Amino acid sequence: MRVEGLSKYYGDVHAVDNVTLTVEPGEFVSLLGPSGSGKTTLLMAIAGFEKPDSGEVYVGDRRITGLPTHKRNLGVVFQRYALFPNMTVADNIGYALKVRGVSRSERAKAVAEAMDLVDLTGLAHRRPAALSGGQQQRVALARALVYRPPIVLFDEPLGALDRKLREQVQLEIRRLHQELGLTMIFVTHDQEEALVMSDRVALLRDGRIEQFGPGHELYDAPATEFVAGFLGRTNILDSTVTTVAGGQTQVALGDRRFPALFPADVRPETGQKCRVALRPEAIRLSRNDRPASLSGQVGEVVFSGPTTTVRVRVGDQELMVQGLSSDPAMRVREGATVHLEWDPAALRAFTSPGVPGARTAATANNSQSVMEGIHS
Ligand code: ADP
Ligand code: MG
Repeated sequence: MRVEGLSKYYGDVHAVDNVTLTVEPGEFVSLLGPSGSGKTTLLMAIAGFEKPDSGEVYVGDRRITGLPTHKRNLGVVFQRYALFPNMTVADNIGYALKVRGVSRSERAKAVAEAMDLVDLTGLAHRRPAALSGGQQQRVALARALVYRPPIVLFDEPLGALDRKLREQVQLEIRRLHQELGLTMIFVTHDQEEALVMSDRVALLRDGRIEQFGPGHELYDAPATEFVAGFLGRTNILDSTVTTVAGGQTQVALGDRRFPALFPADVRPETGQKCRVALRPEAIRLSRNDRPASLSGQVGEVVFSGPTTTVRVRVGDQELMVQGLSSDPAMRVREGATVHLEWDPAALRAFTSPGVPGARTAATANNSQSVMEGIHS
C-alpha cells in the first residue's frame, strides 16, 4: 500500500500535508500522533471516505484514489463501531455481503469463519445490546474481516475499552495479523499501544509525518525534538554547540562538554544554540566525579515500586534520572551532590526550535516541571 503526496484541506486547515508513506504487504503500521494531527483524515482518505485534494493511493500497482470505498477491498474498523442494534451478531457481520448479493449459503459460511476468527462462536443470534464492549468490538472486527480483505484499517478501535480488555483485543488483533498475513494500518494516539503492536510507527504532527520507522528507532534515535518529547519521558535541555570536528560534535551542559548526536541531515555549527534530549533511564548516578560526568544536586526522590525517579538540578536546569529501586546508586538524599553519566549515543541534539505546545498530555504530565525548569 502506498500513499503519494497526499493532501487534504478543511477550509484553511491543512489536515494532511503532502504525506508519502509506503506500507509493505503483511506489515503492521501505526499512525500515531496527538489529537488533530491528521490520523483519521489520512486513514479515511486511504479508505475512500474522504476525497484528498491532491495525491494518490495505490494498492500494489493498482491506483485506487478515485474508487468508491466498497471497490477498494479494504476492511475498516471505526472508532465508534456502530453496529446495527436491531440485527443479530451474524446479520451485522454478514450485512455487507448481503448488500453485495452474496448467496445465503456462502454468506453463512463466511460469517461463521469470521466469527470463529475473532472468537465469537455461539453468539450468532445475540443482539449487540446483549454483548460486552469487548464482544461488540469483536463483531466490528469480524465485520471488517468477513470479505477477507488483504488490508485492514483501524481508527482507534480500542479507545472505548477499559485497560484489561484493550490489552486482550490488542493481542487478538496481533494474532489475526500474524495468522492471516494481513496488512494492517492502525490509528492510535496511545504511544504504548503503537509501540506494542507495530512493525513500524509513523508519528504525525500537524498533518505531516515527523518520523517513520520501527518503534525502537523513534524512541532511541528521534529525528526531531518533537519525536523525542512525544515518546516516553525525556529530559529536554537548552544547550550550545561547542565543537564540530572530525565527525564528533560536542555540546555544553553545566560547565562541561559532551559528545552529542544530531540527526543525520543536520549540520550543526560551533556556537549555535541547540536542544538536547536525554532519557531518564539512560542516566546513571555516580558518587565519582569523572571528566565525562555532569554534576548536580539531588532534588525530589520519587519511589514508584520497581523504579525510582530522582530529580537532579544542574545549574538552572533540572533532569530526571530513572533507575531500578534496587540499585544502591539510586539511594540518594535530597541536597546531596551526584554525578550523572550516560553512554555518548544517548545524548541526542536538535537545532530546530522546540514546540512545547505540541507536547501531548501523555508526556506533559511527566515532564512538566522539567519543561518549566528549562523555560524559567
Ligand atoms: P486526528 O485523527 O489525528 O485527531 P483528524 O484527522 O481528525 O485528526 O483532524 C485533523 C485536522 O483536521 C484537525 O485540525 C481537525 O480539526 C480537522 N478536521 C478533521 N475533520 C474535519 C472536518 N470534517 N471539517 C473540518 N475540519 C476537520
Ligand atoms: Mg482521529
